[in-house]
Amino acid sequence: MSEETLFTKIINGDIPAEIVYEDEHCFAIRDIAPKAPTHLLVIPRKPIPRLVDASSEDKALLGHLMLAVGDIAKQAGVDEAFRVVINNGAGVGQTVFHLHLHILGNKAFSEDSLGF
Ligand code: AMP
Repeated sequence: MSEETLFTKIINGDIPAEIVYEDEHCFAIRDIAPKAPTHLLVIPRKPIPRLVDASSEDKALLGHLMLAVGDIAKQAGVDEAFRVVINNGAGVGQTVFHLHLHILGNKAFSEDSLGF
């Protein structure tokens, strides 16, 4: 069996984290090194390493994650303005190879760039 990812260890309770949301398919935690005043990670329970590793059998799960992002943003009070980021691959800074969506809020991003 392949080694558990950091996020699987968190949802199993083996590593502490502040879990702010959970349902049957995914959960959300506060990022330990926030890049914005509100920085949450939405994580599927299924440990898909990268977005490109998802397959057609994950279609419903990917849709579920998008809807969960909206619910979690509302719960966090940032639904009027937030950014969603998925890093795919070490070349753009992915460090945890278990798919996750960053929710970044309460931060002014410039209107015309993706600069963080
Ligand atoms: P990425 O760089 O897209 O792979 O994002 C991984 C994120 O996980 C980074 O923003 C880290 O700060 C965050 N992170 C790493 N370890 C933990 C942890 N134990 N609890 C919460 N967030 C973490």
